[in-house]
Amino acid sequence: MLAIACRECGEHICLYQKDGSGNLRRMYIDRIIDSKVVLSKKDLSCPKSHLLGVRVIYSKENRAAFRLFVDSVAKKIVKAGQ
Ligand SMILES: [Zn+2]
Repeated sequence: MLAIACRECGEHICLYQKDGSGNLRRMYIDRIIDSKVVLSKKDLSCPKSHLLGVRVIYSKENRAAFRLFVDSVAKKIVKAGQ
């Protein structure tokens, strides 16, 4: 589980249950937990309106996700259930 924060201002965005390894380039909306921001918009922004990514649909799986801009978020590993 990852705690996602805005790199610009440090505001908490959400918890994210990552599948697979490697860099976090996108966040699938069905794996976002405890979000502090609106997920229904076209863009993903932090509470202070820094733009973090754009909404996309991955056609292969037909899943909605936010494609994250490079270095837009800071990640911290947290244990599930905390
Ligand atoms: Zn921010």
